[in-house]
Amino acid sequence: MNLPFAECYKIKMVESLRKSTRGDREKWIKEARYNVFNLRSNQVFIDLLTDSGTGAMSDKQWSEMMLGDESYAGASSYYKMKDAIREIMGFEYFLPTHQGRAAENVLFSVLIKEGDLVPGNSHFDTTKGHIEFRKALAVDCTVDEAYDTSVNHPFKGNIDIDKLAGVLKKNPVEKIPMIIITATCNTPGGQPVSLQNIKDVRSVADKFGVRVIIDAARFAENAYFIKTREAAYKDKSIHEIVLEMFSYADAVTMSSKKDAIVNMGGFLAFREEELFKQASVYNILFEGYITYGGMSGRDMNALAQGLHEGTEFDYLDSRIRQVGYLGKKLDEYGIPMQQPYGGHAIFVDAQRFLPNVPREEFQAQKLVVELYLEGGVRAVEIGTLMADRDPVTRENRYPKLELLRLTIPRRVYTKNHMDYTAACLKNIYDRRDSITRGLRIVNEATILRHFTVELEPIG
Ligand SMILES: *Cc1c(COP(=O)(O)O)cnc(C)c1O
Repeated sequence: MNLPFAECYKIKMVESLRKSTRGDREKWIKEARYNVFNLRSNQVFIDLLTDSGTGAMSDKQWSEMMLGDESYAGASSYYKMKDAIREIMGFEYFLPTHQGRAAENVLFSVLIKEGDLVPGNSHFDTTKGHIEFRKALAVDCTVDEAYDTSVNHPFKGNIDIDKLAGVLKKNPVEKIPMIIITATCNTPGGQPVSLQNIKDVRSVADKFGVRVIIDAARFAENAYFIKTREAAYKDKSIHEIVLEMFSYADAVTMSSKKDAIVNMGGFLAFREEELFKQASVYNILFEGYITYGGMSGRDMNALAQGLHEGTEFDYLDSRIRQVGYLGKKLDEYGIPMQQPYGGHAIFVDAQRFLPNVPREEFQAQKLVVELYLEGGVRAVEIGTLMADRDPVTRENRYPKLELLRLTIPRRVYTKNHMDYTAACLKNIYDRRDSITRGLRIVNEATILRHFTVELEPIG
């Protein structure tokens, strides 16, 4: 028989998880105002809120922590990180930042002004937040296939080149400081962008003289999908694919809490010295001196090591196949979800799962609450709550998809945890007809409201 996949690492240290009763969870979720961000982690059994900074570092990364150089300027840790970024991503210039959104803040301070348009494939929430905070507009040019969860398309993260060209043609080029490619693309379900698409975006950008920025948080997972789904690249190594992906970008913003498998950190990397110099001013202002920018030396060391580990094929293979294992289990139970499975998460389609709950009552958030009550599993809403209100009309924005994201931390949970999670969802699915009412908002912030929103059940 064909041998099943197995992780290329073993467990050296464990952390206890606390079980709870349904009664406990009813009390805790009420206290948390039906927002799982307000739960304490010890009220959660399996935490699939995010894959951001929640991965397990390796013994090699921990040993790098001991070698960190905490010098203010010119630390060896800075050069270790610089070497890793040059070798793996091919960029000559970089700036450390404390996390991904800080990289956005620094770069956008240089490039984005009021009234600008920033086209891309659906922008990450903090990216969009930083664009809208500057009174600019994020224009979603993702391919239409991304918004039909039942269509199985290998690269649902792709940018629709016609939509993109339309935006570039209709607007003066001075209003378009950059195109952002998010790879993989979280919002429609951790979906990859093909190398052909990145190339095509580059050639359209060149025609109009616009910069291309890659939001690189999950670049290694994207490269794995290129290798396994894009015929022309099946014999290329992950390293070759990664270098080619970035060869089409002028700069990248990186949340190292994702594919660099560290708990905190980020960076900007640049091809041109000029842009690097302009960004350095803001980095010093917001983050720290250019050779540490919000990171300690030990964290830069762990990040450099994590970039190497996170781009190994065998690691990526077991990572993405673990996510796929959960997807397959849910498929067996008939649970509707975004197809194909994402790289870092499974995205359950809440509109199809809870059709009796009205959309204005936050279907996906309702499902998040039900899943927590069922088994102490914490997922996250990627839907109307996260979409925020329209900055001009202040009306709720209803995104095309209403999703519950089961985000798998890197190298943390076992197959049994996946089975447990799938069983919790199956139990809810079996009684879905009885779930007819959702939630209403009691309190919300004006931007990025999903983090702090307070809700109450209706009925
Ligand atoms: C996480 C993430 C960010 C923001 O990074 P933080 O480290 O959370 O600040 C930006 N873009 C993408 C695609 C991300 O996944």
